[in-house]
Amino acid sequence: MAVILANETAWPGLKSGIDRIDECGLDIIEAMIRDIEAASEVHSVGRGSWPNMVGELELDASIMYGRTLEAGAVAALKGYLHPISVARAVMSRLPHVFLAGEGAARFAREIGAEASNLLTEASRNGFDAWVEGNIPEKLRERWPECSLVEHAWASLDPEEVGGTTCVLVCDDFGDCSAGVSTSGWAWKYPGRVGDSPVIGAGCYADNRYGAVGCIGTGEMAIRVSTARSVILYMKQGMCVEEACREAARDYRDLSGGVIRRVVIHAVDRSGSHFVLAAGADEGTRYYVVEEESGRFEERISETMRL
Ligand code: ASP
Repeated sequence: MAVILANETAWPGLKSGIDRIDECGLDIIEAMIRDIEAASEVHSVGRGSWPNMVGELELDASIMYGRTLEAGAVAALKGYLHPISVARAVMSRLPHVFLAGEGAARFAREIGAEASNLLTEASRNGFDAWVEGNIPEKLRERWPECSLVEHAWASLDPEEVGGTTCVLVCDDFGDCSAGVSTSGWAWKYPGRVGDSPVIGAGCYADNRYGAVGCIGTGEMAIRVSTARSVILYMKQGMCVEEACREAARDYRDLSGGVIRRVVIHAVDRSGSHFVLAAGADEGTRYYVVEEESGRFEERISETMRL
């Protein structure tokens, strides 16, 4: 029986996960994440997300297959509904791993990916309210045709949640895979790329050890390569829980920049899992399908102060 671990924002995809539990991990991940990307109630993944500082939605996603260590990623993709599928196509159809911006959009168009205006009324209203509440009145008239630099620190996520969606699968074929998709921080500087599409930071899978996905402050996961670190700590002989704790301890060496919260999700090749909210006082909800149960059960992560 496959093990699927999905984070809090993955709830719109849980049914697809159960329906496809016998399929290969990459198909399960893509199907679940597509449902989440299409759900406008989730404001940090796909349609209906909070936009960046100039009111545009730029999406990040990646997927990795632990049998071959193949990976595909897109960053700052505009105008396409399913970045996870575009990322998977980068992996399967190009000699590359990672496409960004206009090139990613061009590739999405060429493969016939579904084009879509992803901003909903709610996300536009959220943007207007952010401008109103954070940008000085005299600048608002010409916003965003002015320097944005001084206002970048106002771009902290209003919902204070780890908004990326992360799905990890150890499937019936013995393969571990990982996938993540997000719009990143709300009100981020245009072109800002988080950890999600950075293989080794927000996403990693290796059949010899397991699969890892991160949500939360992407800048932290990038600076210490969290996802790959968890795998390397397992390679050194740690169990999945110790490996996550050790990877979180690496955040204690960071100073400067934004130091907030990262939630590390990990499954090892035998299906044991661990989720750790680092830099948080409260645990985070996640969902897991375990041996025989055939349904997702809700769990709360462990926490670790930094
Ligand atoms: N990790 C994502 C990013 O930094 C955001 C999140 O999960 O809240 O882009």
